[in-house]
Amino acid sequence: MTIADAYIPPRDFISKVRRRATQWRAARPAQLKFDTPMLSICFDDFPVTAVTEGARILEARGARGTYYASAGMADTDGPCGRNFNARDIETLLDAGHEVGCHTYDHADCARRDAFETLRSLAKNRDALSEMGAREPSRSLAYPYGETSHQLKSHLPPRFYSARGILPGINVGRVDLAQLHAFALFGEGWRAKLQETLKRAAKRKGWIIGFTHDVSDTPSAWGTKAADLDALLNSARELGFTVLPVTAALERRIA
Ligand SMILES: [Zn+2]
Repeated sequence: MTIADAYIPPRDFISKVRRRATQWRAARPAQLKFDTPMLSICFDDFPVTAVTEGARILEARGARGTYYASAGMADTDGPCGRNFNARDIETLLDAGHEVGCHTYDHADCARRDAFETLRSLAKNRDALSEMGAREPSRSLAYPYGETSHQLKSHLPPRFYSARGILPGINVGRVDLAQLHAFALFGEGWRAKLQETLKRAAKRKGWIIGFTHDVSDTPSAWGTKAADLDALLNSARELGFTVLPVTAALERRIA
């Protein structure tokens, strides 16, 4: 899975136009309204440190997160460290976290037939069930944030939401088949997100943040433990309710 994780989706002009068109063509348009600002923290793939460090930090602040698992990555080593195994699934569910779907094989869903992806979603559901998941995932995160209108239009109804990686506040008109999310890594993410939190607090909007590993020395795709804790502290001070993705969606009042 190391090779798959090092994969970077194409950045040529046509791919960029297609990506934008896919984002704009809503497959599940909805109006979202909440009575408090909302924050969801997601861990994709996911590395073991998202459990040992990430869940510990969330739980210490009374929060829970969503873990988007690719079962094909279980028990492998990747660029973000060792990945989860069945014990981690049990630990997370026992503590009240959500286990979401990230496809079985973590392929670029914009570059293959939607039918292949649907098979991968079913395979992931079965594999996660064997690993101890107690019900099929209700939320999906596209690997690399890549999707297609065909896929968005044919998602199994068991998914209440699907998440991309394009930044934005989820409030008012949204596409439940491609929710916006902010990376909790990369140059200056903390300062940028702090400003976005303030704007979202005024609009009672929903911020979804995603990362991979969590430690004092994270990978390029991971988050420093102290930064994750500081983010949760800021969110609390601004009046955010912190919930897993599906639980947050269930709090919508419109
Ligand atoms: Zn991923």
